This record gives sequence, structure tokens and C-alpha cells, in this order.
Amino acid sequence: MLGYLLARAGIDVIVLEKWPDFFRDFRGDTIHPSTMEVLYELGLLGEFLLLPHNEMTRMTIHIGGEEATIADLSLLRARCPYIAFIPQWDFLNFLSAKAKEFPSFHLLMETEATGLIEENGKVVGVKAKDKDGDFEIHADLVVGADGRHSTVREAGAFAVENLSVPIDVLWFRIGRGGVDDKRSLGYMEKGHALVMLDRHDYWQCAFLIKKGVFESIKAQGLDAFRKSIASISKMPPAATAEVDSWDKVKLLSVTIDHVREWAKPGVLLIGDSAHAMSPLGGVGINYAIHDAVAAGNLLVPAFKKDDLSLSVLQQLQARREKPVKRIQKLQVMIQDRLLSPLLDVKGDLKMPWFFRLFIKFPFLRRIPAHIVGIGFGPEHVQIQFDNRVSHT
Ligand SMILES: Cc1cc2nc3c(=O)[nH]c(=O)nc-3n(C[C@H](O)[C@H](O)[C@H](O)COP(=O)(O)OP(=O)(O)OC[C@H]3O[C@@H](n4cnc5c(N)ncnc54)[C@H](O)[C@@H]3O)c2cc1C
Repeated sequence: MLGYLLARAGIDVIVLEKWPDFFRDFRGDTIHPSTMEVLYELGLLGEFLLLPHNEMTRMTIHIGGEEATIADLSLLRARCPYIAFIPQWDFLNFLSAKAKEFPSFHLLMETEATGLIEENGKVVGVKAKDKDGDFEIHADLVVGADGRHSTVREAGAFAVENLSVPIDVLWFRIGRGGVDDKRSLGYMEKGHALVMLDRHDYWQCAFLIKKGVFESIKAQGLDAFRKSIASISKMPPAATAEVDSWDKVKLLSVTIDHVREWAKPGVLLIGDSAHAMSPLGGVGINYAIHDAVAAGNLLVPAFKKDDLSLSVLQQLQARREKPVKRIQKLQVMIQDRLLSPLLDVKGDLKMPWFFRLFIKFPFLRRIPAHIVGIGFGPEHVQIQFDNRVSHT
């Protein structure tokens, strides 16, 4: 997104992606109302909505056989009052194709940033490697948008504060099992929590477990695992047949952290590289996009004035750190007060009382809808582009 914004403003930008494609399965699929607002502001919303996607207006969870809708996005005052479920690789292909329309955008696939080039205490470029070997790219500014295992953050020796996370995620897919009217998102039963993301032909599943228990789940055998998934998800056993080897079940370690400083001379961090997000609430993509929009708003005029001094770069942290820390605090609170205790229950679960409030007072569903769908501190595009794109 930042690459798109800079290139559209006529600034030369090189984006490195270490893999040959964007087909990374492990990053979630959600595009939120506030991100669709940004796409609208950029004149891209109409085309974006033509991509195959599902629209989710209500977030419904099942606990102990009871159902509660805890968020209703249709209550939001938003142009797109729903979450669009779209595989992230489709979104990234769309955005990079749009960016390539600008001559100053250069995307180098299968090219990995391996380190930073420093001169006199300032970062002046990146070391990189592609299939032909190592090389260097010199730049006025390096932006680390390389996710929670960020090379840029490590090479720049950014200090990181880790928040404790007692959960991990098992990530696998199950079939549709001939069930077409399923809409639900979350299930909690006897020490298990399962989130199901609709990807048209199959369900992408995120199975939340306590850190360190994967080996004991494996020890009970694949059959037992499949049976428990079918039972929790209320799907026919045939739907879980795809999980025919542990190789198809990926253990994803969940991290929540943030760097103390987002910028050093010549280098800036955004998205998960500045603040790794838990999958809880499915908000990480939204915050990463809004970091990029805020960075674009700051950097386009800064490039034009030729002032990329540290004090300018630090303005991004001043603007974005508070919303990010608020949502991370909420994620930690939910995992500690709700999820962990529920994962510890070995017997039948009961719907917690506060979820019942959402059943009794449906207007309350607007609050989680706003927190998830819009987020804290949503950003708007403030760049004046010369190249107008018509709104559809
Ligand atoms: C299991 C799981 C499920 C999640 N589900 C959701 C969800 O449903 N909705 C949601 O909003 N969030 C979800 N999240 C959080 C979300 O994935 C992140 O917050 C979001 O992807 C951050 O975006 P980013 O662009 O900062 O980093 P990333 O999406 O991680 O992108 C970083 C990119 O940089 C590339 N890269 C990495 N290192 C290098 C290098 N050295 N050189 C070149 N390229 C490099 C990577 O290949 C990748 O393409 C989930 C997280 C997890 C762990």
C-alpha cells in the first residue's frame, strides 16, 4: 500500500518481496470497512469489489451449543458495512497490479532484503539477494514492512517489547462437506476454539491451542484430531478428510510485540515489523494498511520538501503508536481473561454472561463491530495526486 501511494505521487519506489508470488497462506483474509474506505478514496473500491469475495456483516460465535452474534457491522456508518473475506494474495496481486500502472513503481519478486547499508550512523540502503546473487540498493529511505520476523527490524537493532501470548494456532483447511449455508465464524467447545474462514471451495481453519500442547494433540492421533474438528465445527466427518497428514496442519506461533522506536536515521518500520499482531479479532491487516496510509501522508510531502530527517520519520510513531497499543492491549486482555480460561475448561462450556448481553441488547453489537471493522485511529488518504482516478 505504501509502495502504491509513493509511486502514485511520482516518487521512485522499489518493493522487495522474498517469495516468487504472494501466495502466502498464513496471514488471514480480511479487508475491513475502514480499508475499503481507503480504497474508495483512492478510486479503487469498485474494481476491488469485483474480485471474488464474501461479505460478512455479523460475527457469530458458538459456545457450548449456544449461539451469540457479538458484532453487527451493518450497524456501522460506513460505505461498506461488512468485512470482505478475500485471500490476501488476491488483494496483494490487485494492489501491485494497480501500482505497476505508475512508472516509478518497481516490484522485485523473489528478492530478499538481507541487511542494511549504513554510513555515518544513517541507513542509506539495503543489502539484498535474488537468484543471481547478492547486490545492494541505495535509497533515501528504507521502510521495513517485512512482517513479524522482520529482517529490517533485526538489522537495524530496533529494541522490541514482547507481550506474553499463551496461545498458538493450528492452521489447516477442511472441505465444505456438502454444507453450503454455513456462515459461522467461531466455535468454542470443551477446551477448544476454532475459527473458520470461508474461502469458497474450502474452509480455512484456525484452531487455537495453548502454547506447547501441539505435541500432545499429535500423540492422540490424526483420527482423534479430525473427529474433534468435525464435532466442534458441526461439520460432517467427510469434510475433514483433507487433513490426512500432520504436514497439512501448520503450527503458527502467535506473537504480540512492538518496537520502542519506529524510526532511526534513514529507516522506518510499519505494520507487523513495528508491531506484530495476534490473529485475535483479525485486525492486523487493517492496522498495517492504516500505518501505510499514515506513512504515505507523512512521506509524500517530506520527499517533496527533501526532508526525511529523523524528526519527520518519528511523526509516524507519534500518530500510530497509540491506536496500535490500544488494540494490542485489548487483544492481550481477551486472550488472558477470556480465551485462556475457556481453553482450560475440560468439561462443557457455558456462554459467558457478557456475551449474553449482545443477545439481549443487539445495539451493543455496534461496539465490537466498530473496534474490529473501523479500528482505533483509522487513517484517510490526504495526498493530493495529480493523476486522478475516477470513483466507481
Ligand atoms: C495465524 C494468523 C492469522 C491471522 N489472521 C488475520 C486475519 O484474518 N485478519 C487480519 O487482519 N490479520 C490477521 N493476522 C495478522 C496479520 O497477518 C498481520 O497483522 C498482517 O499480515 C501484517 O501485515 P504486514 O504487511 O505488516 O506483514 P506481512 O503480511 O507479514 O507481510 C510481510 C511481507 O514481507 C515479505 N518479507 C518478509 N521478509 C522479507 C525480506 N527479508 N525480504 C523481502 N520480503 C520479505 C513477506 O514474504 C511478506 O510478503 C493473522 C496472523 C496470524 C499469525
